Amino acid sequence: LAKQRGRNGYAFYTQELTEQARRRLNLETDLHEAIALNQLRVYYQLQMDLGTGRPVGLEALVRWQHPTQGIIAPDEFLPVARNAGMMSDIDEFVLDEACLQLRHWLDAGYPLQSMAVNMSGYWMERGDVFGNVAAALRRYGLDPGCLELEVTEDEVMHFNDDGVLLLDRLAILGVGLAIDDFGTGYSSLLRLKRMPVNKLKIDRGFVTDLPGSDSDSAMARAIIALGKSLQLKVIAEGIESEEQQRVLHQFGCDLGQGYLYNRPLPASEIEKLLGEPAP
Ligand code: C2E
Ligand code: MG
Ligand code: MG
Ligand code: MG
Repeated sequence: LAKQRGRNGYAFYTQELTEQARRRLNLETDLHEAIALNQLRVYYQLQMDLGTGRPVGLEALVRWQHPTQGIIAPDEFLPVARNAGMMSDIDEFVLDEACLQLRHWLDAGYPLQSMAVNMSGYWMERGDVFGNVAAALRRYGLDPGCLELEVTEDEVMHFNDDGVLLLDRLAILGVGLAIDDFGTGYSSLLRLKRMPVNKLKIDRGFVTDLPGSDSDSAMARAIIALGKSLQLKVIAEGIESEEQQRVLHQFGCDLGQGYLYNRPLPASEIEKLLGEPAP
């Protein structure tokens, strides 16, 4: 029967689903041990000043060094983590590791202004973001102004009053807030205006087809203009070519991030790209 169904793709499809489900289940089992076994890694990507061409900050991006499957990307294991109720543990781990690393780099004299850490809605709702952030800053003696939390525009849309209150408390502490994947989430401008935002991150989707695409050019310009009028910094994600960099800078974009500068890399490799530390 299965074979017969296989011809029209049905059995094949369910079999594939089962395989996928099994893989996820295995990952979930392994993930429970991943933190304790020290398998999570934090990679870093540079954030460049498009005016000077110098790196000014970094974004911390998590990876899982799986014992048998190699490096697993966040898009694959974060959904599993969310499902397993482990998302806050992961975000908390990345925050701590990124702050520790920033401490090292600042001590070594590298001229970095900021470290960005992604903040999931899950962590905001079920974790203790404020407590974790305050503790990490204290632990490593960091100025709150050098930490920036990124939350996606999509998640901003789903905030309740507690979410907004948390952002206000973080802002009072002095921590920066960036809206990630901006332009994809239909957040209301009123809502944006009411939140203590410092930076908009233009989603990669609007950068990929620059400078050829008129609609993407229009979107990028509109986001940059919006950012300027609200006195926010604007950073473009996913810059892969000199051309993209050139038009974005021409549009007035302050900052950029993307494979043109570097892929996310372990701390030891990113260090070589940070320039000369001040003596
Ligand atoms: P994101 O925060 O928007 O991060 C940008 C993603 O785009 C990263 O993927 C980065 O490697 C990728 N990227 C950067 N430049 C380029 C480029 O020029 N071309 C292309 N094609 N891609 C580029 P990554 O590291 O796989 O992370 C995917 C997403 O997973 C992140 O999107 C973020 O939403 C989430 N994520 C990663 N680390 C964490 C974490 O520690 N906590 C939470 N909550 N989410 C995380
Ligand atoms: Mg991000
Ligand atoms: Mg993004
Ligand atoms: Mg994203």
